Amino acid sequence: RQKSVSFIGLGRMGSEMAHNLFSRTLVESNGGARFVVCDAREETSHAFVKNFLGQFPGAQVDVATTPAEAVLASQTVVTMLPSSPHVRSVYSESGGIIPALRTLTQDASRSTLCIDSTTLDVEVARTVASDVVRTGAIMVDAPVSGGVTGAKAGTLSFLVGGTASGFDLASPILARMGKKIIYCGESGTGLAAKICNNLILGVLAGVINCSTGACWSSSVNNPVPFAVPDKSSPAERDYEGGFATSLMLKDMGLAKDLAESIGSPLPLGEAAESIYADVVREDPELANKDFSSVYRYLGSEFPK
Ligand code: NAD
Repeated sequence: RQKSVSFIGLGRMGSEMAHNLFSRTLVESNGGARFVVCDAREETSHAFVKNFLGQFPGAQVDVATTPAEAVLASQTVVTMLPSSPHVRSVYSESGGIIPALRTLTQDASRSTLCIDSTTLDVEVARTVASDVVRTGAIMVDAPVSGGVTGAKAGTLSFLVGGTASGFDLASPILARMGKKIIYCGESGTGLAAKICNNLILGVLAGVINCSTGACWSSSVNNPVPFAVPDKSSPAERDYEGGFATSLMLKDMGLAKDLAESIGSPLPLGEAAESIYADVVREDPELANKDFSSVYRYLGSEFPK
């Protein structure tokens, strides 16, 4: 098998992360590395390749039509998908990573490292990881914090769950896409940390409009257009790009499930979830814009 690096899921985050991973791997391998990309929308993969080859002519980047094809060509696979159902599909279903790994000998499978950076349900992630590990391969959950800006700049924080040896193998790869790589513990703990972070973010984005207190939501991703001088927030681009409201709703649901699983009440989280749910149900346009557009929704709910 050739030592390719695969990236599956080339959306708002994945396309920027794959760009940094591939370009830095190229430099570190003196141009000798090969890459594979895969996305449910094949035109997304082709657009990525065209853009990458425009900047790195001569680089070897193939498009895989299935995750199985990608993993069989690679020793490292990074996945960056919307949520739990997509991770299940990419890893467990026919044409997915796990059935492909099962066709390899344990020795061949053992040299495969899977890194999932999706924010998804902790239990789903643990089940998928244990199925991967049963094939002999290695898997870590490595969700990210830092948004599209951090993905583009290569300054993401990765919160990693898995074995200590899996963390050691994944770290140099993650370092090509981010600045801080934090080991959180066993499989699923990177995700638990990420979900807690987004719970605070999701709650504060609503509260910050009528209270004091500095945080990322007020100083960088302020929901009010042009509220922060010299900062380029999604609010200044009509809330385009960034982190979709529908994905924030998904993360509030993940936090609620996690809290329920340990019997912890989550009143602010539930209040925030119901606001994001209202936005997604009532306004499909805002559902796809950055979650800070909840400010616009709340403004229309409470006219002056
Ligand atoms: P996105 O919707 O822009 O991208 C997801 C990509 O996955 C799309 O290109 C889609 O076509 C592809 N995809 C879906 N199903 C697939 C499948 N079965 N096989 C292959 N490809 C498939 O989402 P995003 O904003 O890039 O977010 C990705 C993940 O990162 C989410 O879990 C999100 O919660 C998390 N996240 C996002 C941000 C942000 O600011 N956008 C920040 C931190 C974490």
